[in-house]
Amino acid sequence: MPVEGWRRPAWAEVDLDALAHNTSLLCRVVAPARLCAVVKADGYGHGARAVAHTLLAAGASSLGVALVDEGIELRDDGIDDEVLLLAEAPGTSLGDAIDARLTLTVGSLRGARELAGAAEHRSPMPVHVKVDTGMHRQGVAPDDLGGVLELLGAAGLAIGGVWTHLSVADGAGTHTEAFTRSQLDVFRRALDSASDSIPDGAVLHAANTAGALSFPEARLDLVRVGLGIYGYLPHPSMQAVLDDAGAGALRPVMSVKARVSAIRDLPAGARPSYGRRRALERPSRVATVPVGYADGYPRAMLDGGANVLIRGRRMPLAGVVTMDQLLVDCGADTDVDVGDEVVLLGSQGTERITADEWATALGTISWEVLCGIKQRIPKLAVT
Ligand SMILES: *Cc1c(COP(=O)(O)O)cnc(C)c1O
Repeated sequence: MPVEGWRRPAWAEVDLDALAHNTSLLCRVVAPARLCAVVKADGYGHGARAVAHTLLAAGASSLGVALVDEGIELRDDGIDDEVLLLAEAPGTSLGDAIDARLTLTVGSLRGARELAGAAEHRSPMPVHVKVDTGMHRQGVAPDDLGGVLELLGAAGLAIGGVWTHLSVADGAGTHTEAFTRSQLDVFRRALDSASDSIPDGAVLHAANTAGALSFPEARLDLVRVGLGIYGYLPHPSMQAVLDDAGAGALRPVMSVKARVSAIRDLPAGARPSYGRRRALERPSRVATVPVGYADGYPRAMLDGGANVLIRGRRMPLAGVVTMDQLLVDCGADTDVDVGDEVVLLGSQGTERITADEWATALGTISWEVLCGIKQRIPKLAVT
């Protein structure tokens, strides 16, 4: 797969058909709520520029980012649609955020005052106000919502929306379910108490992927979906929601691939890589693959028992992952050779390695796996 400026045989494929499939599937499931496609952290590692246009074409009504710089990058790429900032912008970046026509979130009284000051000389897009209903990360206290809305109104700012964020909608079990319902209750009460200051048409939103799937009442006017559009469920049990909707399955969007760069046949007892951590149990062909932890293939994958795919077969690592390269134990009877395709994430033949499999090996979540794939790995859009 020759690409200009690409000299190392290691790359990620971003399947834009899968991305469009997931987006339109999720739009159908949550309708009439609209879908804000979350592209923070470089589109969860997929490349925000690579995915943004496809997401909008497939039905997303807006894009969500965490940083002012991420929003400006989308504007620089020619995105004209609404870009919602999912966190309160630092006071020092408000001018740039307003100039880039980003939709700002206010999440504190202090932030409301700063924005009121910044807006004296510029007019921002209608502002969204975030309410803290139990996540305790950002957001105004429910009792302060009315006051913040009045302050913003007095400064001449239009209110575009009011929202909150769920903290356990991806967990299974009655305890987490009860907490999500209590967050939605707190949100509803805050909206009621501030209703005089909330204009008709203000967009109300609460749900991430998990909330959108598991709690239909959380869909409100808009859902903010990240993980789902990239092809993963927050919890396997949520497939039932898609089945009930006759929606089918999501399709993972990103694959990470490379080509074998070197081969050696080693005797039993050899201990490849740093620290001589693991002895080969039998004579083995060991393949070198030009991807390492600096690319987002974590060192902890060895202890996690990770596999890669070569020639359609699962093969274990042969030693600790290094910064730029990793080693694979291809076994005794194999003709694996330099140039063979290696799939680190994705499918080959009938085998498939998912971000959920990486997450299990690493003791983390698929979100962290996906956004951990570094920019050092070029992202190739494929259809
Ligand atoms: C990241 C983020 C989302 C998307 O979450 P997913 O679980 O990936 O769907 C939604 N809302 C906010 C505020 C976020 O920060």
